[in-house]
Amino acid sequence: MAPDPDCIFCKIVQGEIPSAVVYTDDRVIAFEDISPSAPVHLLVIPVDHVTFLTGLDESSEALIGHMALVAGNLAIEKGIDDSGYRLVLNQGPDAGQMVDHLHMHLLGGGPLGGVAT
Ligand code: 5GP
Ligand code: ZN
Repeated sequence: MAPDPDCIFCKIVQGEIPSAVVYTDDRVIAFEDISPSAPVHLLVIPVDHVTFLTGLDESSEALIGHMALVAGNLAIEKGIDDSGYRLVLNQGPDAGQMVDHLHMHLLGGGPLGGVAT
């Protein structure tokens, strides 16, 4: 999907809004959450403006899987793969989704208890 000019994450993808990018390839980028809920709090997002899981079809399976693989590799890079981490994908108002550009939270670096995002 084309970039949405009103989408904050599309602006991060395009470099219009600065962010601490930790990983990038042709399909996803990952950067530090501006308001971390844990010692390690990264966001893995598609480069394309994808909004919700709902409405995706099988052509997006590889992308969603890639997001999870990248998150797992970043957990290794951050040294939290053994101590543990949490992946969170908020969808819609009841989940508290604030940015309508699909994103996977990677949380870790300490006991998470009930930490959400
Ligand atoms: P949501 O609640 O939609 O699942 O999570 C959105 C996340 O994006 C929040 O954790 C919030 O702190 C983060 N966020 C919102 N705006 C920005 C921004 O401009 N830069 C960065 N790095 N993170 C942001
Ligand atoms: Zn977007």
